[in-house]
Amino acid sequence: MTTRPPSSASVSADTTIAPSPAPPAPSAQREFLPFAAPLVGEEEIQEVVETLRTTWITTGPKAKRFEQAFAAYVGGPGALALSSCTAALHTALVTLGIGPGDEVVTTPMTFAASVNVIEHVGARPVLVDVEPDTLNIDPALAATALTARTRAILPVHYAGHPVNLQLIDELASRAGLAVIEDAAHAMSAKYRGRTIGSGSNPAAFSFYPTKNMTTAEGGMLTGDPAFLERARTVSLHGMTRDGWSRYDRGGSWYYEVVFPGFKYNMTDVQAALGLGQLRKLAEFQQRRRTIVQLYNEAFADQDALELPAHRPDIEHAWHLYVLRLRDGVLRIDRDAFIEDLKRRQIGTSVHFIPIHVHPYYRDKYGYRPDSFPVAFTNYRRMLSLPLSPRMTDADAAYVVSSVLDIVRRYRR
Ligand SMILES: *Cc1c(COP(=O)(O)O)cnc(C)c1O
Repeated sequence: MTTRPPSSASVSADTTIAPSPAPPAPSAQREFLPFAAPLVGEEEIQEVVETLRTTWITTGPKAKRFEQAFAAYVGGPGALALSSCTAALHTALVTLGIGPGDEVVTTPMTFAASVNVIEHVGARPVLVDVEPDTLNIDPALAATALTARTRAILPVHYAGHPVNLQLIDELASRAGLAVIEDAAHAMSAKYRGRTIGSGSNPAAFSFYPTKNMTTAEGGMLTGDPAFLERARTVSLHGMTRDGWSRYDRGGSWYYEVVFPGFKYNMTDVQAALGLGQLRKLAEFQQRRRTIVQLYNEAFADQDALELPAHRPDIEHAWHLYVLRLRDGVLRIDRDAFIEDLKRRQIGTSVHFIPIHVHPYYRDKYGYRPDSFPVAFTNYRRMLSLPLSPRMTDADAAYVVSSVLDIVRRYRR
């Protein structure tokens, strides 16, 4: 058996710590296991190739079919296919007329896109801290952040665990606010039996390659039909008729621009990929749940590890498996934990570096790390383990044994 010298980068510089044996060298055969990777099959590849052989490769019949199939999957009245989730969130804000002078209450525990779009429309993002278990926006704190300028609440279904929509929706309707759901993680998630994306709140989904299904780049906006009709115009140059309905047989050359809109449409090439992915989504979700169960069972009795929250009234989309290291149990911190996994060919990530510590937001709004202590302290001790439908049971077992080995080696 080969051993490697301990890497000084992985262990704290504190010299009072007894040296620990180095982790086993990764076997030459073992390939790097990414924390997330898309699973695209021959069926989708064929569908993409067929689309490229037709005379209509941008937004057209496939995008329309993808929208219908998506709406049917979530059980909602309609959907608008766009170039990204970021585009969907931006389109939603603009369609609702949110702009300069307005405030939008949102969470620091998200990807920058959720908050950047609020800046794009000239409104002010008002961050409030998250719940310690789900790391979703805390509805009670959201209530205290409302002012006369508040126009909307923008919650994120973090990791795929739905926010408490009952409290958020009640709060919004009492104050006459919109709720725009960042559903980038929430494909297939349910809150009290209702699928995320089936209701009248605008909800924005992502098909980025790390998400639960992919179109390479892409997003979907759901909401009530009148909202989606206006959003469609906003998302495509502010034109009252889209390209396909103009150029298709019998279409008219005539259109009107009623708003200086964006160029956020999804192409038929992407939609072809999306249609195939959507057909496999139930299978992908089953695979995710199996891996999550393997992780949960293996880590349940480890006092060093805090498992992801799962409240009883929800169905989790399991976009991410976020493990948290309990303070004071191990001699290494989260960063060293990640480095050790990387040496064992296991990829991880951190979701998320909170918004308020990024220089733009920190400096513009004068935030300190402890401005949102729950988000910040949890950020410091979290890591996202590999989770994707590509993973085999053996991959999951390797992650489990590696995590348990690191915990055993570095216990205080
Ligand atoms: C991925 C992600 C987005 C952005 O999605 P894109 O499709 O890449 O624009 C937005 N919000 C959250 C929480 C995300 O994880």
